[in-house]
Amino acid sequence: MSDFGGHMLREQLVEITCNDIEELYGDYREGDLSKYEATLVSSHIEQCEECQAFVDTYELVIAVAKTLQAPPRLPDGFKERLRKGLNERLGISLSEA
Ligand SMILES: [Zn+2]
Repeated sequence: MSDFGGHMLREQLVEITCNDIEELYGDYREGDLSKYEATLVSSHIEQCEECQAFVDTYELVIAVAKTLQAPPRLPDGFKERLRKGLNERLGISLSEA
C-alpha cells in the first residue's frame, strides 16, 4: 500500500554531501546538471550553511576572475614612446647600412 513502485526512485533519493556540492556546483550554475541533480544541489545548499559559504566564495572568485580577464591598460604615451624608440633605432641602422 505504501509501495509507489518507486524502488529505484527511493534509491536515488540520497542526500548529497558537501563534497558533492563542491564537485557539482560548477556544472549546476552552468545549467549542465539534470533537473533532478540540480534539485538535489539547490535543496542541499538551502539547508547547509557551509555550502552557502562555499557558494558565496565561489561566486566571489568568479567575479574577481572576470575583472582580472579585462585587458590591462597601457600607460598613456607608452605606445608613442615605444614607436619613437623603434624608429630611432631603425633610422640609425638604416642610415648605417
Ligand atoms: Zn553542505
